[in-house]
Amino acid sequence: MPEPRDYKTEAIVIKKTKLGEADTILTFFTPHLGKIQGFAKSLRKPKSKMAGHLELLTHSQVSFARGKNLDTLIGSQTINAFLPMKNDLWLTSCGLYIAELVNQFTAEHQEHRTLFYLILETLEHLCRENNHDLILRYFELHLLEQVGYRPQLRECVTCHKELEPATNYFSPATGGISCPECGQAHPQVYPLSLNAQKVLRLLQDHDFSQVTRVKMDPQLADELEKVIHGYLRYLLERDLKSVAWLDTLREQRVQLGN
Ligand SMILES: [Zn+2]
Repeated sequence: MPEPRDYKTEAIVIKKTKLGEADTILTFFTPHLGKIQGFAKSLRKPKSKMAGHLELLTHSQVSFARGKNLDTLIGSQTINAFLPMKNDLWLTSCGLYIAELVNQFTAEHQEHRTLFYLILETLEHLCRENNHDLILRYFELHLLEQVGYRPQLRECVTCHKELEPATNYFSPATGGISCPECGQAHPQVYPLSLNAQKVLRLLQDHDFSQVTRVKMDPQLADELEKVIHGYLRYLLERDLKSVAWLDTLREQRVQLGN
């Protein structure tokens, strides 16, 4: 049976690429089709009816007509615009960081239902809650799990001995924590305090509702951010544009004292 000509799906806009004078190619993340692309004709013309429903990080119901190369968008209806996030530069940047990670770690047309709902949940939390560092670390750890890079946090990733409750070492190349002896043998490792190891395990093993009260002082937040970003950079073999931007914004916030 031939596939129907048109189809509909829920989707989150994760990337927009300008094409020609007024057209746009959009990248979406969907529950059943995974990452997909769509062509939106004249989206950048002022009278475009669809533009408002296809902003970056908007959760929409979208319809496509199948095309030879790219499918064409024929309709869109906003489900959640995540307005509190879009009205705040810092939160928008956090959202764009999430979108960039998803785009980098997924291939097109691979179903990732759990990841779709993780993205939605994370955008909702960013709109509602103030513990942004915790929200981002939770997202990163669960994204890594979904795409097959769950870090090993319980036993030494090299010798498999149970980790002592002491400072141990995260090694991006082996994808987990090493005991102090094995850690010395790896070229690039991040020392991890006992507290940082506990928080990482907690975040990895629980739902967000169970970890939302975890308190991180700035030093611990910094330690966790460095190690996870180090692992992400290693896996992607490059820096993420949005990380540099988040760092810049954070420095400005610190200077302004908020
Ligand atoms: Zn070891």
